[in-house]
Amino acid sequence: MEVKDLHVSFDTYGGEVKAIRGVNFDLYKGEALAIVGESGCGKSVTAQSVMRLLASPPVRYKQGSIIFEGQDILKKTEKQMQAIRGNDIGMIFQDPMTSLNPTLRIGNQIAEGLRKHKKLSRHQAQKAAIEMLELVAVAQPDKRVNQYPHEFSGGMRQRVMIALALACNPKLLIADEPTTALDVTIQAQILDLLKDMQKKLGTSIILITHDLGVVSKMCDRVVVMYAGQIVESGVIDDIYYAPKHPYTKGLLNSVPRIDMDREKSLTPIVGTPPDLFNPPAGCPFYARCKDAMKVCQQHQPVMEDMGNNHCAACWLYHPLAQAAGK
Ligand code: SF4
Ligand code: MG
Repeated sequence: MEVKDLHVSFDTYGGEVKAIRGVNFDLYKGEALAIVGESGCGKSVTAQSVMRLLASPPVRYKQGSIIFEGQDILKKTEKQMQAIRGNDIGMIFQDPMTSLNPTLRIGNQIAEGLRKHKKLSRHQAQKAAIEMLELVAVAQPDKRVNQYPHEFSGGMRQRVMIALALACNPKLLIADEPTTALDVTIQAQILDLLKDMQKKLGTSIILITHDLGVVSKMCDRVVVMYAGQIVESGVIDDIYYAPKHPYTKGLLNSVPRIDMDREKSLTPIVGTPPDLFNPPAGCPFYARCKDAMKVCQQHQPVMEDMGNNHCAACWLYHPLAQAAGK
């Protein structure tokens, strides 16, 4: 998949919210990519644009394209999207209760997609649903398949969601904060399960999270978003051990890491992200950045390539700033 110069806005009573402002990234076959940032940075909006799930407030895809397997998602009709959602692209959310139907047995919910997209008979779909539950390690799947969502614990419900999202063997799975509502032990189990499924089924994954801590376990590459833009991207080790953008450094200093000295205190990033009704002319991180220079306030930094596909949008890495010894 190739996201090119994506601009997404919402029309609200207060005016136009410029939620996504020029996002570019690629996702390769079988790859797990993380999109990381604070809430409101546009990571969920990016993911939901890929699924074309955004409806209200009125959304405008103002510019750019999302090329999935050679075709632009943004040019598809709603009918064409219905054939893609759940079949070519699956999605799991933070809270499975919002996406599972409380009044339907979970077997029927998993079977629904299989009957619609894969044209399985009722009997075949039920059998496949049991196999999916088994695959995501739900015990006694032949009994559980007839139960309702409320009969499952939070962690088990997320397993059911994963089974549902993967039932049609999608090429891409989008997981939006899939473990945020779960406690730490269950979180780790769900991440292991996702990683395992990715290996078994060869699915590409986009993992959306505010928590850089969960990324290292399962992703190959990371995209860091801030105020509707990508500020840094690279392979996991470069982002973890050699972050370049002051915002990424701030994020890493504000989350607990197993590889860091336990004594080292965590420092939150001071301040708040800019107003997306009126995004700043210069660097979006300017107001919170300890390293800000004069140029940062007036001019948007461009992406500088550091090698190994590691890029950061920050004036500090511009050749002129480097030459001036910044
Ligand atoms: Fe800080 Fe300037 Fe870099 Fe923005 S461009 S992150 S303000 S140094
Ligand atoms: Mg979100």
